[in-house]
Amino acid sequence: MSLQRYQRMRDFARTPEPRGQVTPSRGSLQFVVQQHEASALHYDFRLELDGVLKSWAVPKGPSEVDGEKRLAVHTEDHPVEYAEFEGTIPEGEYGAGRMKIWDEGTWVPESAPLAAYRRGHLKFELKGRRLKGHWSLVRMGNAQTRKKDLWLLVKRAAPAAKSAARLPRRKPAQGPGARPR
Ligand code: MN
Repeated sequence: MSLQRYQRMRDFARTPEPRGQVTPSRGSLQFVVQQHEASALHYDFRLELDGVLKSWAVPKGPSEVDGEKRLAVHTEDHPVEYAEFEGTIPEGEYGAGRMKIWDEGTWVPESAPLAAYRRGHLKFELKGRRLKGHWSLVRMGNAQTRKKDLWLLVKRAAPAAKSAARLPRRKPAQGPGARPR
């Protein structure tokens, strides 16, 4: 985890974006989706992990339809405090254009998140104002897509609840004379 790349790409004398620092988690993990009116409109999807915001640019934004995949281009780590950033990055600076928060909340990984991230397969629940439910972020496999660090963001149907209806059907109640087991 490091913000070197983020900080090298920006001139903090000109951009209103925070310089930031690596910030250990204080409990629940934040997520944010920022609508970014850069040269092409896109949505920056960011998950707090390992003291930074892991970040993906999603050209079409997240789909709330189960199974509908959205391209997510992995971008540089951002500081955690970037989750509160809204403003206009000036012309001529990296990412010039308006940035505003489209959704925010917390995310709950379904397995050890750093290992899952490094494997390129994160499964998690989002508890946002707009986005709720279960999602996956999966790194695409072939050499070309790996070089560009392309991932897919997809919503998953809620895991089946462990309700009585889904348990194996019990044998009919034992009648009189049934042998005890
Ligand atoms: Mn962006």
